[in-house]
This record gives sequence, C-alpha cells and structure tokens, in this order.
Amino acid sequence: MVFDILTLFPEFFSSPLRQSVVGKAIAKGVLRVEAHNLRDFTLDKHKTTDDYPYGGGHGMVMKVEPMAAAIEALKAQRPGATVVMTTPQGERFTQKTAAEFAALSSLIIVCGRYEGYDERIRSFAGREVSVGDYVLSGGEIPALAIIDAVARLIPGVLGEPESSESDSFSAGLLEYPQYTRPEEFRGMRVPDVLISGNHALIEKWRRQESLRRTFHKRPDLIEFADLTAEDKAFLEELKRGKS
Ligand code: SAM
Repeated sequence: MVFDILTLFPEFFSSPLRQSVVGKAIAKGVLRVEAHNLRDFTLDKHKTTDDYPYGGGHGMVMKVEPMAAAIEALKAQRPGATVVMTTPQGERFTQKTAAEFAALSSLIIVCGRYEGYDERIRSFAGREVSVGDYVLSGGEIPALAIIDAVARLIPGVLGEPESSESDSFSAGLLEYPQYTRPEEFRGMRVPDVLISGNHALIEKWRRQESLRRTFHKRPDLIEFADLTAEDKAFLEELKRGKS
C-alpha cells in the first residue's frame, strides 16, 4: 500500500517512519510512504500556501490553488487513490475506518495547518477524518496515527497477523488483560487460569474479561459489538452485579 502525505512539514515524518512496526514494513517494502511538500505546488515566487480570511478574523487560511494542484498531481500519479483530509470536523477515525483504508491500494493524506482550509479544498477530498474531539496544530500527527493504525491491518506488516485481531476495537470490544513474567510482582499475581494450560478455559476467561472491561470502561461500544448468547448472559450477570 502507498501513502502519500501532503504537508508543509515533510521532515516531520522522517524519524517516526523509521521506527518499529511501520519502519520495518517500509524497509521490507510492504508499505510505501512519501511526504510531499505543499510548497512545491505553489505558483508564486514566495511559495505562499496561506492567506487572510475573507470577512476578517484570527489567523490564516490554507489557500485552495496549491492544494488543488498538489492533490490533482498526486491523483494523476496514483489513479484510484482515496484523498483523506485531516480535520477536527471530520468523521471520527476508528478501527473500522482503519480496516476500510487497509483494503485500499493508495491513500493521499492532506495535512492542514493554520486556522484550517479554504472551504473549497473540501471538494477535492473523498473523506474527512478527525482523530478525536480536540484541536491539534496540524494534520501531521493525525496522518501518522492513520498510517500506523492502517499499517497494522495490512498483511505482512505484523509478525503474527492474529495480533491485530485481538487488539481492542477489532471485534468491537476492548482487549482482555495481558500478563508476562514474573508470575508474582509485589503481591500481584497472574490469574491462575492463565498458567493452567487449559486453552478452552483461557479463551473463555479472555472473552469474559474483554466483556467486563468494555462494560465498565466503554459501555458505548457494547451496543455495536458482535455478541453471542453466552456473551449476553454474562453481560446480564455484570449488570446485576453478580460477576
Ligand atoms: N480552525 C480549525 C477548526 O476549528 O476546525 C482547526 C484548524 S487546526 C489548528 C489545523 C489543522 O490541524 C487542521 O486543518 C487539521 O489538518 C489538523 N487537525 C487539528 N485537529 C485535528 C483532529 N482532531 N483531527 C484531525 N486533524 C486535526
């Protein structure tokens, strides 16, 4: 999969894209990420990318002409690419969005700066996504979050593909608690079931702990999760305070 990032700060990406999971996937050639400088698509000698807002007000607004030229040039290089605009006003970026993007061959991610975009830039984007209800100074951190979350779902990126399947949100629930050695630390013991060697019991415990965590920490997710009759019975017990 190829990610093209359109940004005023291409150097922002050099270190994060060399690290860990994404860095290894790029080195293996499973992913390609190219950061493009928006200034290269400006037409004036000052390479202007922003201007004062019509009607007055604080701050500067990203100009439409360089954005349009850049997006059109990138789309010509990657026919069929989806253009994603980062904006706090977009649809919430979730694990479901990440899975949708992972099925694509090419994504162009547009990073805003200043007070945001000239409204006409929106007509060049297929999707508008927000990484949460807070305002960052630019779209570079959201772009990295999108690339990282999508990359984990691309075959060949994670050592063991199942590790993303048990991640929180993948099955609509939070992940169960995890432990590693030592068996006891300052009086806190690893639950006996995990060292029992009984895989059926371990699976059952993990499912119930996933449900318990989600019920307590993110009850909003339960409504949309794929639940079995056994899950529903366990949730009823939780509601009655029995488990
Ligand atoms: N004035 C804009 C508004 O209220 O919608 C916010 C502009 S913000 C300072 C500059 C840029 O940062 C945005 O254009 C967007 O690219 C990025 N950005 C900030 N917060 C974001 C978020 N929660 N999700 C995605 N992108 C965000």
